[in-house]
Amino acid sequence: MSKEKPDTIAVSAGRMTREHFGVVNTPVYRTSTILHPSLESMKGEALPYKYGRRGTPSSRSFESAIEALEGGARCVAVPSGLNAIATAIMAVCNAGDHLLMTDSCYGPTRLFCDKTLKRFGVETEYYDPLIGGGIAALLRPNTRAVYCESPGSLTFEIQDVPAIAAAAHAKEVSVLLDNTWATPVFFRALDYGVDLSIMSGTKYINGHADVMVGTITANESHRKRLEAFYGDTGLFLGGDDTYLSLRGVRTLAVRLKRHEENALALTRWLTTRPEVARVLYPALESDPGHAIWKRDFSGSSGLFGVELKPVSKSALSAFFNGFAHFGLGYSWGGFESLIIPADFKRTATKFQCDGPLIRLHAGLEAAEDLIADLEAGFARMREGA
Ligand SMILES: *Cc1c(COP(=O)(O)O)cnc(C)c1O
Repeated sequence: MSKEKPDTIAVSAGRMTREHFGVVNTPVYRTSTILHPSLESMKGEALPYKYGRRGTPSSRSFESAIEALEGGARCVAVPSGLNAIATAIMAVCNAGDHLLMTDSCYGPTRLFCDKTLKRFGVETEYYDPLIGGGIAALLRPNTRAVYCESPGSLTFEIQDVPAIAAAAHAKEVSVLLDNTWATPVFFRALDYGVDLSIMSGTKYINGHADVMVGTITANESHRKRLEAFYGDTGLFLGGDDTYLSLRGVRTLAVRLKRHEENALALTRWLTTRPEVARVLYPALESDPGHAIWKRDFSGSSGLFGVELKPVSKSALSAFFNGFAHFGLGYSWGGFESLIIPADFKRTATKFQCDGPLIRLHAGLEAAEDLIADLEAGFARMREGA
């Protein structure tokens, strides 16, 4: 694998400059039909590209850049992060299998497992995200995969992925992980025992809030399974979306550093506020996941949780309504700051939370302006009480 730092890989990987007259960026290929020069070419391997759905220079440029960042054998790009999750799970699980899913998973992942996956005969069991090597006790003869997400959606627990992977691999169970928060710039999931690393590229990979995209990257042992399911189900991401996604990759490392700086400034300030019960952000030394985060991750991105002290409904509305910079919107990972109420669901474990839980995304604005915006929000909250 490449020895270069992620900053360098993000800038250089996936280029096809020589094939494109020296043009730095691979152009947008919009195509279904690819014309062959002869009958022999249609049957043989003479052309690298055969039919739109099977890949174009646009899609290969983007996928090979993600492959290089993740250090994987094969990446496929799909039309959303949720589709990447469904595709990765269905690429490994068969009817009659048992799937272990972290109780801290992204909400729609849970819905997919409980509804659609169940319909296909796969049983999902939720496990404590902090279980670590204890996952061994939950492995059954028909367990096919352990699915991780670190940190967890909305509640931000850091998982001991190497311990989980060691226990799973001892029983030939696959390990899947949602790597959307860290991206391979901050967490090289495959190096820590993950077999399929999943991202919602809609977030940091694209980074500009204008594309829906998902990626799945397989190590060598899982490459064929991923390629087979991806090919059989006709998945593909069009040229315009792959182009924009790859353009996002070029600035990924510098954007993430700024998101991290801003999130650190905001979370440090928030921990001093009387309105705040606790801040959920693994880069803070006070965070319960800090030690494992420090061991495995090389940085922390811009998304974090805040548990407020209990407040009235009207005070909470006053807080939310009136921000100048924090937008009220789903998604995250774009250049802009966002805030949402965090409605999480648990079935295997309890997440103790007395006041309202909220989720913030620190965008690329100046931290001082973001802090002033939150300070004004707390003032509105006091007035609305
Ligand atoms: C947003 C998100 C997804 C889903 O991605 P989409 O591109 O919106 O489908 C998956 N996992 C995590 C952790 C997310 O935050």
